[in-house]
Formats: sequence, C-alpha cells, structure tokens
Amino acid sequence: MESQESDICPQEDFEMILGEPGIDTLVNSAHEWTDHLPIVVDPTGELPVRNEWAGVHFFDVKVDLTGMHKKHYVYSHKLNKLFVDMGKVVPFQIKWDGQPGLCVRALMMFSVADNLKHPVRRCLTHKHVDDPSNINYQYSEHVLATENDNASYEVNESSNRHSVKVPLNSLQHGCDHILVNYKFMCKTSCTGGLNRSPTDVIFTLENMAGEVFGRQIVGVKICSCPKRDKEREEAIMADPAGKRKMKVKKEDKGQKTLEPPTKKIKQEFVEASPYSSFMITAINPQVAQHLKDHIRKWEEVKSVEWSLPGVPSTPLIEIIDNVAVLPQPYQ
Ligand SMILES: [Zn+2]
Repeated sequence: MESQESDICPQEDFEMILGEPGIDTLVNSAHEWTDHLPIVVDPTGELPVRNEWAGVHFFDVKVDLTGMHKKHYVYSHKLNKLFVDMGKVVPFQIKWDGQPGLCVRALMMFSVADNLKHPVRRCLTHKHVDDPSNINYQYSEHVLATENDNASYEVNESSNRHSVKVPLNSLQHGCDHILVNYKFMCKTSCTGGLNRSPTDVIFTLENMAGEVFGRQIVGVKICSCPKRDKEREEAIMADPAGKRKMKVKKEDKGQKTLEPPTKKIKQEFVEASPYSSFMITAINPQVAQHLKDHIRKWEEVKSVEWSLPGVPSTPLIEIIDNVAVLPQPYQ
C-alpha cells in the first residue's frame, strides 16, 4: 500500500523552517511551491498523524445514534468513545461538502503511548478460518470491517497497519452525510490481539491518489457489555482516583449488619507488561493488592497460551465484589 498524505505547511511553520523571514522573494516563491508539492505523510505509516482536522471539505465523522441499539453499542459524548459488541453493525455518519472523487479510510490504532507504534491485529482465535466470526468474512486479518460492497481492504507492507477504504458517492439532496456501516471483529480484551489496550479509529478523507484532506478520531472499546463499560469509564473519568462509593442494601429488620453503610471499591489499572493493562475492581483492598502483586503471573500463563497455535484463548478473569467473573466467549 503506497498511499500518501498532503498537509500544507502553515505559513508560520514555513517561515520557521526557512529561518530567514526577511527574504520575501524566497518565501513567496516557496509558498507557491508548497501549493504544488505538498509535504507528504503516510496515513497508514509507522506513526499516523492523530490531530483532528476538518479541512477544506468540512470533513466530520459521528456515530449514528438515530437507530442506536443500546444493547449492541452506545456512544459516550464525554469520552468521544464508542462501546460496541464484537461483530455488531455500527453506522457512522460521514460528512463532507459533497466533493466527488473522494473516499474515507478507517484505520484502528492503539491510543496509549507505549503501544502507538504497534499495528492493531486480530487475535489468533478470531482470525482462525474456523472461527464463527469468519463465516461470510474473508478479510480475517482485519479487526475493522465494513458492510460496504465497494470497500477495499489494505495492508501497509512496511508498518503492517490494516485499514479499509470506502468510496464516497455523491450526497443526496437535503442530506449532509452518508452512512457507512462498520463492524469490529475482535474484542478489546482479546489476548494476543488488542490485549486490553485502548484503541481509536482514525478516519481520513482522501482522494484516489491517497492525499489526505481531513481527519477525525473516535475512540472505541469492543466488549460484551457496552452500556456497563461506558458507565464505568465515565465514572472513572469523573473520579480519576478510581474510587467509588457503593450503597449497601439494608438488612432485614432485627438483623445486624456487619458491613458499614457505605464502603469503597478498590479500582485501578495495573500494567502487567508494556503490551497490556488490566482493570482491577475489588471491594476488598487486600484482594486488590493481591491481584496487583500477581498480575504478572497471569501474563506468564497467557504467554504459554500464545506460543501454542490453535489453542482457544482462556477468558480473562474480572473480579467484582470479591466474585470472579469469567466473561462469556464470543458466540
Ligand atoms: Zn479476538
């Protein structure tokens, strides 16, 4: 894949590069030069640009909430983040000024600094040809899929980043966007794939030569309980210390409760390795500390699993209120 991006260098940056703003003739001729030979950055390269940019075509991307099926996906305006179940269709509104001959590229990218340079890839379990998620899905290496029949799936051979491009047909009268249906074919918790690391989808408006004219970003978490996870992450954002109070049900009359009326939940992210982090939720601080101390052991167990091709992934354990929960595997 050899697409290219054009970002016209702003005048002040250009003057800084030249270092001699007094040389008017040189500056003026150089501005004309940048109009014709834009600075090139690869949108699927080693470190794709992440700043949002509407550009001259007023490019914008939004999750379509008009027919939102809350069980399958929800969107958090506070976090600019989509929470979606694996394999479920999510319509996105792609807005631009209607200029013909353009397309929209969607690329998944890790959003945590340590993982920025790693491409987002499917886990061994889900990309296996016999996995149910690959029935009627031939692009088994791509986490991000679309239902658009004219889409082209691309892999950058040097960065190994996967992306999908959809041509933009002309806008219909009275409508400023078209809908593109996307699906996510792994979970954020997939071991050996997303490895619980947060991700974004980078949307770029491009012409057929791969020049970029706009860019928008939407965070995404792929999980079994989108509504629950959205509420959790919004609560963590509202209280960064990661501590919440939980109301305890009143005991029946005549029975004394051993619990205080409220108690704090220990909740924090723990880095197990440079490639994964775990959310620890436990009502007992000692349980939380014990989990924290031993989380690297869990990573060691998983590394054995990764080295055995074809072995189904063991679901990650979540501890809530001292109860270990094994998430249901994808059906
Ligand atoms: Zn997976």
